[in-house]
Amino acid sequence: MTRDNKIELMAPAGDFAAMQAALDNGADSIYFGVEQLNMRARATVNFTMDDLEEIVERCEAKGVRTYLTLNTIIFDHDLKVIKKLVDRAKEAKITAVIAMDQAVISYAHSVGLEIHISTQLNITNLETVKFYSHFADTMVMARELSLRQVKFIVDGIIRDDVRGPSGQLVEVEVFGHGALCMATSGKCYLSLHDENSSANRGACKQECRRAYEVKDLETGNILKIENEYIMSPKDLAVINFLDELIETGAKVLKIEGRGRAPEYVATVIRNYREAIDAYYDGTFSDEKVADWMESLRTVYNRDFWGGYLYGKELGEWAGTSGSQATQKKTYIAKGRHYYPKPEIGEFLVEAHGMKIGEHLLITGPTTGAQEFVLESMMVNDVNAEVAKRGDVVTMKLPFRIRPSDRMYKIEKTEFAQKKLIEQ
Ligand code: SF4
Repeated sequence: MTRDNKIELMAPAGDFAAMQAALDNGADSIYFGVEQLNMRARATVNFTMDDLEEIVERCEAKGVRTYLTLNTIIFDHDLKVIKKLVDRAKEAKITAVIAMDQAVISYAHSVGLEIHISTQLNITNLETVKFYSHFADTMVMARELSLRQVKFIVDGIIRDDVRGPSGQLVEVEVFGHGALCMATSGKCYLSLHDENSSANRGACKQECRRAYEVKDLETGNILKIENEYIMSPKDLAVINFLDELIETGAKVLKIEGRGRAPEYVATVIRNYREAIDAYYDGTFSDEKVADWMESLRTVYNRDFWGGYLYGKELGEWAGTSGSQATQKKTYIAKGRHYYPKPEIGEFLVEAHGMKIGEHLLITGPTTGAQEFVLESMMVNDVNAEVAKRGDVVTMKLPFRIRPSDRMYKIEKTEFAQKKLIEQ
């Protein structure tokens, strides 16, 4: 729960750019992994142990809490590195670790580090919450629970006065937005079986997202399946019933997506921030929901549904293998200099050209994800309407850019055109 008593908005951070995007767009906390032992080991660049201090420093400056995910199954040969990571997290003043294996829970507890229970433990009932309350103050519920079941657990925590090690009532966390597995949270062997690449070790190859056909081995007949993507659920979105979710008494709303780009984190966190604030100030409305949904569709998605929170037992399937985002980005230029006094950013165009009026995105480890419409620019020090590969471009920017930054053009995708035709 945040200090102003609103539900806590927890953002995914796969790298510094995504982390900065979360900080700039209203996250209350971030969660992230380092190196091998987290569920997104292969999804993105990940942080290293040496990044912990910088993560804490940059988050603390914005009053944002930091959660380190150590949520894989641990074997004996992992114990040494796990203990080292927990010790380093404690030294660096990370707020809490997100854990599933009892070895991690037990060690973090022994050194006095706050523990959050991972979705990998599939908490689905009050008695399990009571069991883990000896170790943990916050527990994420299994994604397969309905709103009614979440509320039953929250009511039970209050009624039975279930408190964590901090002495506070245990806080219930709920997944609010992002990818769902067709298997119960993380209990899936598809990737390990097909490609010897463990989903539990963060190396899922997403076999479920591909198209399949079913063959009768006796006759050789191939059965026709209406939806070829029979194992790929649509993504979860709760923004259209966020009011009902908050009213269950859940205290933390977790956004999935540590493998996602910074502009994804920026867009999703910005919309959920607005929605949470609108709920508490009494301005949550159908019109706003429609705008938020449209904005959420601009970034990676497999179409949306309310997941199991509305009591559905079977998933709704995506119908395509990739993203159905209504916008895409195309690389244009890299950052060169920033002149703070006149607030001018300088770029070298390396790929496609650009022109006035285009919707641009700049991303970088410290810059995060900044979007704007290009109103004017100079090419090689002369006012210009267009720039091409090899040009040096300068433009007025109210934020600092760096040589590590990349500039992209944002354009509509075929899904956006399709939606326009359908309307
Ligand atoms: S293959 Fe699909 S269902 Fe299995 S863990 Fe990976 S994303 Fe989840």
